[in-house]
Amino acid sequence: MNSKLPPKEIRKLSEHEIQVTWADNSINQITSEVLRKLCPCAVCKAERGDTSHEKPLSPKKSSLSIVESTREESVELKTIRGVGNYAIALEWGDRHDDGIYTWPYLLELVQS
Ligand SMILES: [Zn+2]
Repeated sequence: MNSKLPPKEIRKLSEHEIQVTWADNSINQITSEVLRKLCPCAVCKAERGDTSHEKPLSPKKSSLSIVESTREESVELKTIRGVGNYAIALEWGDRHDDGIYTWPYLLELVQS
C-alpha cells in the first residue's frame, strides 16, 4: 500500500484544477484537461482505443488523441462527488459524469 493513500482531501480550486492532499501531507494539483483526457469510463477508454476494462488506463501508455477534449465545456469541471471511500466521480460542463477516479488512479496521474 502506498503511503500517500488514501488522500485526506480533494479540493476543487477552479473549473480547471483540483488539488489533492495525500495521506503523507504532500499536495498535488491536477488540471481538468489531464483529468478529462484520462477519464477512466468505458466510453472514453474506447475512444482512446483502450479495450481493457479490467484495470485503469495507465497515463504512460495512452496515445491521447481525444478530439472531444479540445472543446472548452468538456474540460470545465462542474462537480466533484465522493464514491464510497475509494474514489471520486467528476461531472463536466458537457454533462459527462461516468468516470470514476479511484485513489490509485489519481496517484498514477500525478506521478506520470
Ligand atoms: Zn468518460
